[in-house]
Amino acid sequence: AERCVAAIARTKHLNAFISLPEESALLRQVQDAETNGRGPLNGKLIAIKDNICTSDLPTTAASSILKSFTSPYDATVIKQLRAAGGLIAGKTNMDEFGMGSHSTRSFFGEVAQGTRNNKRVSAGGSSGGSAVAVASNNAWAALGTDTGGSVRLPAAYTGTIGFKPSYGLISRWGVIAYANSLDTVGVFARSSQDAGTVFNALNAHDPKDPTSLPASTRSRISSVVSKASRKRPLRIGVPIEYNIAELNPEVRAVWMQTLRMFANKGHTIHPVSLPTTCHALSAYYVLAPAEASSNLAKYDGVRYGSRAPGSDASSETKSVLFAKSRGEGFGDEVKRRILLGAYTLSAEAIDNYFIQAQKVRRLVQHDFDRVFALPNPLLDEQPANGENNQVDILVCPTAPTLPPTLKSLEGQSPVDAYMNDVFTVPASLAGLPAVSIPVGYVVDGAAATVGIQVIGQYGDDQLVLDFASQYE
Ligand code: GLN
Repeated sequence: AERCVAAIARTKHLNAFISLPEESALLRQVQDAETNGRGPLNGKLIAIKDNICTSDLPTTAASSILKSFTSPYDATVIKQLRAAGGLIAGKTNMDEFGMGSHSTRSFFGEVAQGTRNNKRVSAGGSSGGSAVAVASNNAWAALGTDTGGSVRLPAAYTGTIGFKPSYGLISRWGVIAYANSLDTVGVFARSSQDAGTVFNALNAHDPKDPTSLPASTRSRISSVVSKASRKRPLRIGVPIEYNIAELNPEVRAVWMQTLRMFANKGHTIHPVSLPTTCHALSAYYVLAPAEASSNLAKYDGVRYGSRAPGSDASSETKSVLFAKSRGEGFGDEVKRRILLGAYTLSAEAIDNYFIQAQKVRRLVQHDFDRVFALPNPLLDEQPANGENNQVDILVCPTAPTLPPTLKSLEGQSPVDAYMNDVFTVPASLAGLPAVSIPVGYVVDGAAATVGIQVIGQYGDDQLVLDFASQYE
C-alpha cells in the first residue's frame, strides 16, 4: 500500500484519480482489514471508477452535475471488496457517465497514460483512470465498468488485463447506470490470476440488484459448464468478419502472432463467421443512448444533481429549472446521447430504430450461440447449429487501433470515435465474458503491447480467464 501511495504521488500528472482518501482514512482501512482477519484481498489497494458509489469518497461519474455528490452507502461491490480485506485506493477519472473511449470527456480534465514525442497519449476509455492506476502501479487492481468496451479498450491501450465478466454475475447495485441492460462491472489487473481473485470476491448473487443472477441460475450455469468436459487442447475460433480493412496493420500482425503462439501450444484454429457483427455497432449506438436518456432523466437539479445557480423553483417554472440545471451540468457528449436516445424512443422513430436495434441484438446473440460448442445456459432451446466447426473460445483484437495521442483526437467526429468500439460491442450486446490481454511485440527496437481479446460463451468466465493466463 505504501508503494502504491508513493506511485500515485509520482504520477499525478496523468490525472488518473478524481479523489483520494486522506492518509488517516487509508490507515483506518488498513486497521479494519486487519481486525476483520485475512481475506483473499487483504492489504491490496484497489482503485475504483468514479461511477461506483463509496460512502467515504465522492462519486461524480466525472460529471459536473454530480460534482458535489457523496453517496450515503457503499455499492455492493465495495462492500465485497472491503469484506475480502481490500483497501480503496481512490476514485478514478473516466469519461462522463461512461460515455467515451479516451477518458477525455471528464469534467475533471482528461486522463493520459504518458507521452510519446512529448504528446500525451490516450489511456482509452471510459475507465481510463482505472487502467492507468493499474498500469502505473498506483493500485494492485482496479474496478471499471464495461457497457460497450470501457474496461477492455483501456486495458488494451495501457497493456493491462481487462476482464468483463458475463452480464449478471457481479452486482450493479450502487453503480451509476449508463445503459443497464449492458452495464457490467469489470476488473483491471496486471495478471489474469489477480483479475480472477478480484472477480471471485465479487461473483455472488445480490438480492438488491434485480438483474443479479439468483443461485438457481448460477447452479444451472455450473452444471452446463461442468458437463461440457472440454478436451484440451481447445478449439479457437477466429471471426473472419473481424479482419476489417480499417484494422491497423500492427494490430493484425500481433493477432496472427497470437494465433500462431496458441497453435504452437497445441490448440487448433478455426475460422468462424459472425455475420451480424457489421450491424452490432449501429445497434449498440441506438440501444445504449436510449437507455441512457431514460437513466439520466433523474438528474434534474431537484431529485439528483447540482442545481443551476440562481434558479429557484418559486421564481421560475420547474421546466426552466430542469433545463438550466441539465444544460449546465451535462457535457456535450452526454447531451448528444440524451438527444439521440430521446429521438430513437420517440413515437416517430421507435419502430425504425429502437425496435430494429433490439432485433439486431438478438441476432448477434444467435451468431455467438451458433459458433460456441457450449450451449448457452440461459436458453432452453439452442438455435439451429449452422456451423459444424464449433469452438470453445474466440480470439480477436480488442480494438482496431493503437493508442492515439490526445492531440490527434481533437476534431474527431463522434461517429469516428464510435467506430473504435467495433470489436468490443458484440460481446456486450450478448452479455458474454471477454478479457483483453496485452500481447508483446517490438516496434522500432522498443517493446510495446497490443490488446488481444478472448471471448467465451455465456457463463464460461473461468475458461476465459484460464485461457488468458496461458499468455503470461
Ligand atoms: N465507448 C463506448 C460508449 O461510449 C463504451 C462505453 C462503456 O463501455 N462505458 O458508449
